[in-house]
Amino acid sequence: MDLDGAALAQQLRAEFAPEVDGLLREGRRPRLVALQVGTNPATEAYIRGQRRGAEAWRIQYDLHTLPGDASEAEVRAALEALNASPSVTGILLQLPLPPHLPGRVLQLAIAPEKDVEGVTPTNLGALVHGRDGLAPCTALASIALLESSHAAIRGAEAVVVGHSEIVGKPVALLLLARDATTRVCHKFTKDLARHTREADLLVVAVGRPNLITPDMVRPGTIVVDVGINVVPNPEVPGKTRVVGDVDYAGLVAKGCRVSPVPGGVGPVTVAMLMRNTILAARKSPPPREEISVPLFPDS
Ligand code: NAD
Repeated sequence: MDLDGAALAQQLRAEFAPEVDGLLREGRRPRLVALQVGTNPATEAYIRGQRRGAEAWRIQYDLHTLPGDASEAEVRAALEALNASPSVTGILLQLPLPPHLPGRVLQLAIAPEKDVEGVTPTNLGALVHGRDGLAPCTALASIALLESSHAAIRGAEAVVVGHSEIVGKPVALLLLARDATTRVCHKFTKDLARHTREADLLVVAVGRPNLITPDMVRPGTIVVDVGINVVPNPEVPGKTRVVGDVDYAGLVAKGCRVSPVPGGVGPVTVAMLMRNTILAARKSPPPREEISVPLFPDS
């Protein structure tokens, strides 16, 4: 399969294995803690993926759950405790949070050096300087898929559809850092097809099935489909299936190379979360005795 995310994720894991060996030898096992507030069926699949990914990469993974009615101060205190714990090398705050909590504001409480999802202003700011250390995982995954296609990125016409902080904008910055001529389209773009038709590289991160149809692209375009949409399954009445934002079969028939959904960006995003956790662990101070006060006695 072309632009196979599972294969790329496995390759990344193999590339980082010697580094994990080194960290383990030094007694510095990377440890990722995901903080969840309440429960949310929408994030369960991502959490399962995180757990499986961490196991495969030999990273310790802990999910801490606070009650769904936890206050902003309680969530902040939990994040600060994790920031202060020397054995925790990576932290992520599982979004969405219950509606009474400001997710984006609380993410800012994560120490930038442990911010393995790359969501703090410090890490997003580093992207402007062309450094992709702890960058957002899905953005890194999109670039890794483009690079795996062996298409030239320098000088290419790159079009990003979607301008969120977590995907579209960081993808655009990562493309600029690789010298692509980069434009960003979004919901107020007047004639989307005019832009997508000029793309050599197209990254679509919107959340609308069939947004990109064959008439909107040229043959040969490399397409990374970030979208995740749950739609009725036409083959099994009453059931649903997951599709991306592009008409996969139509674009492939037109001669484009397209990352599949599922099996494209998703597995590579998890791999990038692990890559970031290893990067953060590499920079963490050497181990010392930790006072053993349970942070989350009930979880
Ligand atoms: P978002 O809702 O924050 O942003 C959507 C973007 O799409 C906005 O920039 C908006 O301007 C743009 N948009 C909306 N309608 C448009 C239109 N008609 N034409 C052009 N642009 C339009 O979403 P997000 O968090 O960036 O996620 C985008 C998609 O990617 C979602 O489907 C999400 O589930 C998926 N996603 C996948 C992964 C993964 O690991 N595979 C990770 C994150 C997000």
